[in-house]
Amino acid sequence: MTKPKSGSSVTGEQVEAFGLLIGGRSTDSLSGRTFDSVNPYTGQVWARAADAGPEDVDAAVAAARAAFEGAWGALTGFERSALMRRLGDLVADNAERLARLEVSDSGKLYREMVGQMKAMGGWYHYYAGLADKIEGRSIPAPNPDYLVYTTRVPVGVVAAITPWNSPLLLLTWKLAPALAAGCTMVVKPSEHSPISTVVFASLLAEAGFPAGVLNVITSQRGEVGAALAGHPGVDAVAFTGATSTGRAVATAAARNLNRVTLELGGKSPQIVFADADLGAAANGVMAGVFAATGQTCMAGSRLIVHEDVHDELVRLVSARASAMRLGDPQDPATEMGPVANKPQYDKVLGHLRTAVDEGAHVACGGGPDDDLGGYFVRPTVLTGLGPDATVFREEVFGPVLSVHTFNEEDEALRLANDTPFGLAGGVWTKDVHRAHRVAGQIRAGNVWINDYRVVAPSVPFGGFGDSGIGRENGIAAMDEYLENRAIWVQLSGRTRDPFVMG
Ligand code: NAD
Repeated sequence: MTKPKSGSSVTGEQVEAFGLLIGGRSTDSLSGRTFDSVNPYTGQVWARAADAGPEDVDAAVAAARAAFEGAWGALTGFERSALMRRLGDLVADNAERLARLEVSDSGKLYREMVGQMKAMGGWYHYYAGLADKIEGRSIPAPNPDYLVYTTRVPVGVVAAITPWNSPLLLLTWKLAPALAAGCTMVVKPSEHSPISTVVFASLLAEAGFPAGVLNVITSQRGEVGAALAGHPGVDAVAFTGATSTGRAVATAAARNLNRVTLELGGKSPQIVFADADLGAAANGVMAGVFAATGQTCMAGSRLIVHEDVHDELVRLVSARASAMRLGDPQDPATEMGPVANKPQYDKVLGHLRTAVDEGAHVACGGGPDDDLGGYFVRPTVLTGLGPDATVFREEVFGPVLSVHTFNEEDEALRLANDTPFGLAGGVWTKDVHRAHRVAGQIRAGNVWINDYRVVAPSVPFGGFGDSGIGRENGIAAMDEYLENRAIWVQLSGRTRDPFVMG
């Protein structure tokens, strides 16, 4: 992998500096400003990123436009496909390095990220398989004088804005279909995790992509994301992040009448029936809410459990949670790392205080890990709360599970659907009839039966309600990046009355 910026060590300091990537060149921001990326485990600055302003966004959008109208736009789907396969291979070859960068940026587990990076190449392979299969249709017209067909063309320059919790995978969910469609992109990663995206982008040049196909803007300034989302040179916006930010992004995109995909927050239910395999359910509940320190949009943070098995399931989950190995996220044996940054840490602790004030019983965890210090929060299980409790309604984005009981199936579904979000859900039962019946009534874009938190390039992902608009992954994600053009061919050669519509 090439280093993104030549001579990138900052003189006299130990941290490496990373530039913006615009038109294939690593460059400082026009203002020359930089900002630090802090490793949430060590609390130390580990890298420095260029701090772009709106004027850098202009340059990046112009570079993406030039590539779209130039070398990239001239390629056929077959040629794009070949490049994407090479990129997929390079991602897999560099999985370990990319994973280490993500861990330093965000404190996520190496154990998870290395698997994620190895799998991520598969997204480029999957969409490479679609790049050469973009077909229009021949459409029968009511008037036999016409032949009508459609072609599907790339929408143009895409603005991608990503969060800190899985920067490269969530970029890939946008980039792979956008490349397959023939679009170019400007991405702005989160200010909390800027580095991995810059390094990843250098792989496109190594794979042989023309300059300017993917441009990276790093910035710690809020107005820069807004400038990109509302840029008049952009044709579509793809965003993953908080619901409140998503509303601002959608408003900015709408001003340009641009299409937008939004992958937003969640408060996903896991319903456990009395006949479930409780060992498997406990494992799935753990995977849902404690993996990635609970910092996943699809976190199964509301456990809705039949009252007959409530005590046993809470005992199983709490015992496993209390025994979890917290520590250095770079250590492959670690099961949970720190919360990713200070604002997020404060937010999680604030939720725990509110929950206790509202009457929660703390079955395990409940606060910071005093031995480890830093941003470590112990995996927490809260019981005894009503469905109106704040922690049962609001996204915590941390390792906090709230538990509520039910008696009848209808009641479980009512509780599960009593949320403005609709991203994911889980159903645990051995009854095949009930499994499908209940899964079919959870208002969410992704439901797992007897499992949780599984994704694939071929399976659509996205949310209902406040969890977003549009879908990523799967064949239909290509539609987000393609325009339809209808072409009418006059066959008779006759002229017609010019004053009436044909
Ligand atoms: P965030 O909304 O604070 O930030 C996301 C990105 O938006 C960052 O790059 C940020 O700099 C940028 N941004 C901030 N203000 C902006 C503005 N006004 N205009 C344009 N861009 C702006 O989210 P976060 O804290 O980084 O991520 C956590 C959130 O993301 C959680 O709510 C989580 O549920 C959600 N998330 C959703 C999914 C999904 O697929 N549905 C996946 C991961 C995370």
